Amino acid sequence: MDDSKNPLRIVVIGGVAGGASTATRARRVNSTADITMLERNSVVSFANCGLPYHVGGEIEKRQSLIVAKKELFWNRFRILVKTDCEAVKIDRVEKSVHVSDRETGVTSTLPYDRLILATGAEPITPDYCIPMPSNAFHLWTLADMDGIIAELDTGKVTNAVVVGGGFVGLEVVEQLHRRGVRVTLVERNPQILTRLDRIFAKMVENHIASKSVAMELGNPIVSLKLENGKAVSATLKDGRSLPLDLLIVGAGVRPRTLLASECGLTLGTEGGIEVNDFMQTSDPNIYAVGDIVEYQNGVTGKRGLNPLAGPANRSGRIAGTHAATGASNRMGPVLGTSIVRVFDLTAACTGLNERGLAANGIEFRTAIIQAAHHASYFPGSQSMQLKILYSPEDGKLLGAQAVGGEGVDKRIDILATAIHFGATVFQLAQLDLAYAPPFGSAKDPIHMAAFTACNDLQGTPALALPNADLTDLQIVDVRTASERDNLPLPGAIAIEVDDFPSHLSELDSERTTVVVCHSGKRAHVAASWLRSSGFKNVSNLTGGMSIRSLS
Ligand code: FAD
Repeated sequence: MDDSKNPLRIVVIGGVAGGASTATRARRVNSTADITMLERNSVVSFANCGLPYHVGGEIEKRQSLIVAKKELFWNRFRILVKTDCEAVKIDRVEKSVHVSDRETGVTSTLPYDRLILATGAEPITPDYCIPMPSNAFHLWTLADMDGIIAELDTGKVTNAVVVGGGFVGLEVVEQLHRRGVRVTLVERNPQILTRLDRIFAKMVENHIASKSVAMELGNPIVSLKLENGKAVSATLKDGRSLPLDLLIVGAGVRPRTLLASECGLTLGTEGGIEVNDFMQTSDPNIYAVGDIVEYQNGVTGKRGLNPLAGPANRSGRIAGTHAATGASNRMGPVLGTSIVRVFDLTAACTGLNERGLAANGIEFRTAIIQAAHHASYFPGSQSMQLKILYSPEDGKLLGAQAVGGEGVDKRIDILATAIHFGATVFQLAQLDLAYAPPFGSAKDPIHMAAFTACNDLQGTPALALPNADLTDLQIVDVRTASERDNLPLPGAIAIEVDDFPSHLSELDSERTTVVVCHSGKRAHVAASWLRSSGFKNVSNLTGGMSIRSLS
């Protein structure tokens, strides 16, 4: 589509995840194109996901965060990178970008044949932070990170407040704690990590609390007290005041779409740029990738924002190919698969949670299991809680969440793969997964979750929800006496699982019965006895009392 005398001019605005992926892919499929990448900051292609870890010193060298310098882009790819250059206007008629050099203030015009918008998202600043006090920071750029580290290095930071219990907020909490700072996490929602359902978020909250990090949930900051331009305390909604030396604001992001909207490109329902499967906007010569676009969701089919690095890089590959050659594969759907380490715990999810499914009118059922990440007899096994959500009609997987130690990442990625390919819980139960004692179990947590869900759908037995109303039901508690003492379940008939077969006659086979144990495993055995003994309506409390106690 181009010839060497008149090379195709590709201009990329934004030089980090999506932009750099687009530009380098375009070069790999088109050796003659004239490719320019504009970046308003002084550094391109830096690892923004690594920023929190340098704050805490876990990534020791700042230099490690610079993935590729502008010289490398030129030497290896012949991509011209212009840093400190901000695109300020797009002229779609002239097919040019107006560029302002942030160092000199000089404005110039750059013509394009194909334009790629990769301007990312921008952090939201709550009203009480406008203007930002000198000791308040987002953590979005290298400059933000440098500012936080400089503040910490004064040695005067005793108390820090982190606003926002999302992924970045939690990473910052962990890293500030690592530096010996007393941290309070403030989240306006009643739970952290809103991509997780309440119970799974609660597991992470409990773990954070065990590290002596204070949390204010559902109790947002309403104002700051300032002294000499510095925030010295934050007043919460309930009127209490938190002293602070450092404030980190991780209150969410919004797509940076001003350039796109000003030149009349169509925006989607969530305020991101509308694109087709080749990442073309409503103007086919202009592409958009990364945090600014609305991707198709793999569960609902609807388009929406999903500001994550994976989709940014994948969409860059599609746009780079299409812009440079006129054809490409299609961008696949996005599931919002995400993961975070919070001290010794890992939390991860994929697909939709209960709120998301309900909001979209999608019916679902839920199975929760507790399992060891590898054979429990092999030294070092760590436990995980795994939840899958699936269709009551055909068992199609709709979402998954996991919280635990090692192996959470592997299970969520397996589940994301399964959802991507439209698998049902019946197919999940058949997966042939690698096993040796140091790595997994012959019946992997994935299989256990799938078996539990298959039982639920086939009534062998069905599952009751963790917060099920047990009033007026026959509740059978098969835990040991000490377990019952630790976590009592009033009104339950206690029969330990190993005594079960000889006590069946004590139970009423006509009554609706829920069997309960600590995690759901022993209850399954007992419930199976009841079913095969003629009990008409038996279910197993999914996740057992350990999960119900969090509901
Ligand atoms: P960005 O990578 O943000 O790049 C956009 C670039 O465009 C910016 O450098 C910006 O300066 C530039 N720009 C904007 N406007 C203009 C203009 N007018 N002219 C020129 N340049 C412009 N995601 C995960 O999946 N996992 C993680 O663990 C994770 N951790 C994160 C941790 C932190 C601290 C942060 C900040 C983000 C994290 N993310 C994570 C999110 C991930 O980094 C983003 O989803 C991804 O970088 C988006 O890529 P992008 O290209 O759309 O935008």
